[in-house]
Amino acid sequence: MSEEKNWEIELKQSVDWFIEEKTNRTVEALKKNGFDSFYVSTKAMTLERMLQLIPKGSRVGIAGSMTIRQIGLDDALRKRGDQVDDIWAKKYSMEEQLAVRRRHFDADVFLTSSNAITEDGKLINIDGLGNRVAAMVFGPKKVIIVAGINKIVKDVESGIRRIREVSAPMNVKRFSGETPCTRDGHCDLQICQPPDRHCHILSIIEKRPMKTDTTVVLVGENLGY
Ligand code: SF4
Repeated sequence: MSEEKNWEIELKQSVDWFIEEKTNRTVEALKKNGFDSFYVSTKAMTLERMLQLIPKGSRVGIAGSMTIRQIGLDDALRKRGDQVDDIWAKKYSMEEQLAVRRRHFDADVFLTSSNAITEDGKLINIDGLGNRVAAMVFGPKKVIIVAGINKIVKDVESGIRRIREVSAPMNVKRFSGETPCTRDGHCDLQICQPPDRHCHILSIIEKRPMKTDTTVVLVGENLGY
């Protein structure tokens, strides 16, 4: 096995330092805004922490989130026998999909990510249907939001820009949507209109919604869109 070169060690150290500073700042801001929040450096460690955080036998709702699947949480919960309401578990009819989404409001635990998280601790999301942002705000007994460091942005403005310029185009492409962003990767709000448009609801959660139990987990890796 080849020895690590000095510049490789320096590169790793400076990247690790930068990630740690950024995530610590964001975790502290999230806590100030009333959320429970903590940082975990890897996907594997996140899976371990999440399985401790979610009581065995819970009814768990999982939103359409790449991040949750990348961690392997959906499979791990099913494996240990939790009742998982997963919108991607099989090919549902539209009516069944809506029923699964409605059940999420009554879940013991609702799992999702956030399209962007500001360094001053706000959660920014854009939805087409709105079930995800609605369940993030009210309904489930516990909400856990998991996000990679790629989701951290300076402020609300850069968060909205990130969603329109980065996450929404890739996400809409996945659905073979016929929108300006799936043609050349650029969002055009004037031209993009229903029924093709996917971005209908913009949600900014500035503080933990009252009477809710909401945890935000930041992971030191790039996850999701
Ligand atoms: S508004 Fe339309 S063009 Fe812009 S990101 Fe959303 S779907 Fe794409």
